[in-house]
Amino acid sequence: MGAESNGSLKCLSEIPEIKFTKLFINGKFVDSISGKTFETIDPRTGEVIAKIAEGDKEDVDLAVKAAREAFDCGPWPRLPGSARGKIMMKFAELIDENAEELATLDCIDAGKLFDWGKKVDIPGAAETLRYFAGAAGKIHGETLKMSSEHQGYTLREPIGVVGHIIPWNFPSTMFLMKVSPALAAGCTMVVKPAEQTPLSALYYAHLAKLAGIPNGVINVITGFGPTAGAAISSHMDIDKVSFTGSTEVGRLVMQAAAMSNLKPVSLELGGKSPLIIFDDANIDKATDLALLGILFNKGEICVAGSRVFVQEGIYDEFVKKLTEKAKTWVVGDPFDPKVRQGPQVDKKQFDRILTYIEHGKREGATLLTGGKPCGHKGYYIEPTIFTDVKDDMVIAKEEIFGPVMSLMKFKTVEEAIKRANATKYGLAAGILTDNLNIANTVSRSIRAGVIWINCYFAFDNDCPFGGYKSSGFGRDLGKQGLDQYLQVKAVVTPTFDGKS
Ligand code: NAD
Repeated sequence: MGAESNGSLKCLSEIPEIKFTKLFINGKFVDSISGKTFETIDPRTGEVIAKIAEGDKEDVDLAVKAAREAFDCGPWPRLPGSARGKIMMKFAELIDENAEELATLDCIDAGKLFDWGKKVDIPGAAETLRYFAGAAGKIHGETLKMSSEHQGYTLREPIGVVGHIIPWNFPSTMFLMKVSPALAAGCTMVVKPAEQTPLSALYYAHLAKLAGIPNGVINVITGFGPTAGAAISSHMDIDKVSFTGSTEVGRLVMQAAAMSNLKPVSLELGGKSPLIIFDDANIDKATDLALLGILFNKGEICVAGSRVFVQEGIYDEFVKKLTEKAKTWVVGDPFDPKVRQGPQVDKKQFDRILTYIEHGKREGATLLTGGKPCGHKGYYIEPTIFTDVKDDMVIAKEEIFGPVMSLMKFKTVEEAIKRANATKYGLAAGILTDNLNIANTVSRSIRAGVIWINCYFAFDNDCPFGGYKSSGFGRDLGKQGLDQYLQVKAVVTPTFDGKS
């Protein structure tokens, strides 16, 4: 086995009682109209955790009706921003109080590390709420300098009913990254979590109600993409769709939005992010960051540093250290605090990653370490590193969304920039060097939404996040994240009405 594992990879925790399994519409948990359900699976074992209500178009219609009513007639958009902020703060407090249960749900549903969830993901999601709660009372327009006959100002108004369609890799982070700015702006919303990870989204709906968020403001429809998801993107009464997921589905969402009511969309899509390591980098730090860049969250992260470019002067030493470290990376049950990598989210993702590994071998890349599943059950894959990867190989071009690194050697700064940009994606990039000129040149030359210099995965609520090129458009988080949920209205009056 390419990595140390916890032996039999046996499960350390029993599945807890699942309290919320139904759709959340207008403040109530309800069955789907069809009465249909689907199974959500524990990726540690492949066993069923619970049956979840399967929402479809008719359920989306009901949820949109509730959100429309709450927007047009309810208190939420009409409250002073600071009053919305106060309720959002209460919601954040409830998330902190329930962090252990929420982390457990994401752990069994998505195979995410329990400790990390409890200490980072869930408190981080609560912090996102607090960040936007603080912004809710500070939404201002501008005074306009117009001709001498008119004066004007702008109002920043909530965009209306929002549809959020989210993926499975960060169920809690994604839920709060989308919902928080929309709440702050005064919007109402319908959220569709990924079918692989519905559990925590329903729990958040329950906590939002407890916090005092009025009925109809947050509705959660669990179900599948082509049915419930498509009903959101093509709905005539949804005013904006915010989507995070694959580039292929992003294209469908944008098409449906255009063909229905021309609602604006924001798309956070896939990536094939480069991490560029220059000769002057500290090898210990560089190998740690490179491993984390591809193995964090089992590689199921859109900004994974999946293409690692290493300058020729340190290449051999880098490869040696990286291999040693990869072999000590612990794969196993995500409840075990020693474990650094849990199972892939589901069988489909597991098979897809193994197919890419086979592709890499067939195309002539050298498998340095890993390359196989771990354990007898569940969806575990060894940390996998390929060297001798060419830029035009499938493993260097396509998003694998798994623990598979493509390692490449380069000579000059110009070469590194050119090859880093030779991708249809543009989500993130990392640069490791102490040379300020190189760091400045490379960061300005790479076409990506976020550049990390001498760090990686340095997320912050104040830092806008989103992509260039086929990685999408629009930004989550930061001031720009709030702007996505606001309309600008210009109000103009004459300065002199001609009567006096
Ligand atoms: P996906 O696109 O298959 O699914 C994402 C969401 O879209 C799910 O809720 C799904 O049910 C829904 N969906 C599927 N088909 C739909 C349709 N026809 N209409 C409307 N909705 C539909 O992606 P995934 O497999 O869940 O997630 C992995 C992908 O997401 C990766 O490509 C990854 O890079 C990307 N991702 C991007 C970011 C980012 O911020 N840029 C973050 C996380 C994941």
